Amino acid sequence: MSLNSKQNVRCPKCGQMTEVTVWNSITVGDSADLKQDLLRGKLNMFHCPACQHTALMPSPMLYHDEEKRLMISFSPCNDALLKNQLYDNIRKTSKESGELSNLEGYNLRFVTDYNELLEKILIFDNNMNDKTIEMIKLMILSQDIEKSVDRVCRFGKCENGTLEFMIYDMKENQTYTSQVPAETYNTVHQSLKESGVKPYSFDWEMVDGAYATRLLNGFNN
Ligand SMILES: [Zn+2]
Repeated sequence: MSLNSKQNVRCPKCGQMTEVTVWNSITVGDSADLKQDLLRGKLNMFHCPACQHTALMPSPMLYHDEEKRLMISFSPCNDALLKNQLYDNIRKTSKESGELSNLEGYNLRFVTDYNELLEKILIFDNNMNDKTIEMIKLMILSQDIEKSVDRVCRFGKCENGTLEFMIYDMKENQTYTSQVPAETYNTVHQSLKESGVKPYSFDWEMVDGAYATRLLNGFNN
């Protein structure tokens, strides 16, 4: 069930008070329209009617797609230390509540970045797994290893047997695209499966570049 709450927010730019509807939980099955708003970047956004200032509300949100057996816990956060604390908290809370036993066969993801949240939804909507995608992203970024520290790679789309990735270079302030044949996805996916990587979760997981690097170094799940 999708749940929201109303919050009175003071605009950080001009001080105007505005009521914002904040969604704390989205269940795709009964809220297709909310999912569309989310994908358009409209959900949980503060918008000031007086000065037009727009910002993401710092509220956590749970995204649940029962059909795809996907649950994403989104906690907006820019701080690496806090990110790890939030991640530890959700793992501890889930363990204590016993809710993980109801989520067998699920992919459980913890993200702190709005774009990462949208990327994950897009990957699973294309019937792919983000673990494989993160490996491919690592392969793409390693083609120009010196520049990779300044680059962010995101899955864009899958069309006509081709996967398209967007690479944003923060130093150059440029966006590049990179195309990978879908066949490569299948090959990487198969080899991950053979090395023991499960296409579902036993606990909440952070599946990102660091995760893919650990996989490359021989660590499984
Ligand atoms: Zn304002």
